[in-house]
Amino acid sequence: MLAVEENVSLKNYNTFGIDVRARYLAHICSTKDLVQLLHTEPYRSLPRLILGGGSNILFTGDFDGIIIKNELAGLQAEPHNAHQVMIRVASGENWHQLVAWCVSKGYGGIENLSLIPGTVGAAPMQNIGAYGVELSETLHTVEAMELATGKLRVFTKEECELGYRESIFKHKLKDKYFITAVNLLLTDTNRTSHYECRTHYGDIRKYLDSKGVKTPTIADVSHAVIAIRKSKLPDPKELGNAGSFFKNPVIDEAHFKKILSDYPEVPHYQQSDGTYKIPAAWLIEQCGWKGKRIGNTGSHARQALVLVNYGGATGTEIFLLAEQIRCTVQERFNILLQPEVNIY
Ligand SMILES: Cc1cc2nc3c(=O)[nH]c(=O)nc-3n(C[C@H](O)[C@H](O)[C@H](O)COP(=O)(O)OP(=O)(O)OC[C@H]3O[C@@H](n4cnc5c(N)ncnc54)[C@H](O)[C@@H]3O)c2cc1C
Repeated sequence: MLAVEENVSLKNYNTFGIDVRARYLAHICSTKDLVQLLHTEPYRSLPRLILGGGSNILFTGDFDGIIIKNELAGLQAEPHNAHQVMIRVASGENWHQLVAWCVSKGYGGIENLSLIPGTVGAAPMQNIGAYGVELSETLHTVEAMELATGKLRVFTKEECELGYRESIFKHKLKDKYFITAVNLLLTDTNRTSHYECRTHYGDIRKYLDSKGVKTPTIADVSHAVIAIRKSKLPDPKELGNAGSFFKNPVIDEAHFKKILSDYPEVPHYQQSDGTYKIPAAWLIEQCGWKGKRIGNTGSHARQALVLVNYGGATGTEIFLLAEQIRCTVQERFNILLQPEVNIY
């Protein structure tokens, strides 16, 4: 049965730990709950916000509407062909628990995405990615309900228009569809020896070498990613944050050459179309923000791209810090950083 709470603090519902209130908060445990919510007054006419784990959201004020809290549960796996398995996961499941389950079963493809907080349903929203792998590589289809009509629709991967931390759900269809389930096509490593673990990115190879692992399994890669992430990123349970606050900017060659002539050490990744991706963390650090604290907020000492709530910060304080950072980066490098976090 649909459960709706009134005048609720969202402090425990967002990893920044921002203490704002919602007029209503509905716990959605089945698609029936969702249909009921969409057809019942007073909820049907209110502003709505879909919430997963709140790990990619910054609340800048109270929400005078209804928060639709996703608690859909369930998981099925079926052989797809000789060496692949299709996993259908309800969108309210925890992403990392899904990864851990797949690793325990020997299903490869998402082990590099270990320890990313949040729900499965939010993963296609920004095409989550880490350690050289993006969701787009294993995503098969996305099932979603249109909020205006209650109609179910299946989106093919192409229809999701996935890009770097982008999808159709973040733009054209923002706040229009509730993702109900995600289908992933993974490799069943029990049935094939042709699976190559992805160890080229970041410190994965270095970590495995330090453990004497020469031919890593997907479990080895998952353990490496978890250990590296724990050493680099603040745990939101201890220090409020939403991971990377900004996306890494992509600039054209002329712009890149100008920066290179001033900063020969600039880290960069050339893209297939000749443009260059520059780590936003490096730009922020060059502007002197790394580890800098302003009141209850700041840029984290180990990872400049992560803005943190040292306790009691408001969403507006964090937003203003982000704006200051954007201004200084723009002045110095002529690059306007774009937030990765969804700001409400
Ligand atoms: C410590 C830390 C590390 C992180 N590392 C990474 C990383 O390595 N890579 C990465 O990509 N991200 C990373 N993130 C960001 C975040 O974990 C992901 O974006 C995650 O997918 C967000 O899931 P969520 O359930 O918390 O989404 P929420 O924050 O609840 O929601 C995010 C957005 O998606 C919408 N949404 C949520 N669920 C649904 C749904 N079912 N249907 C439609 N819309 C929906 C919301 O309305 C909102 O706009 C990190 C965050 C933290 C705190």
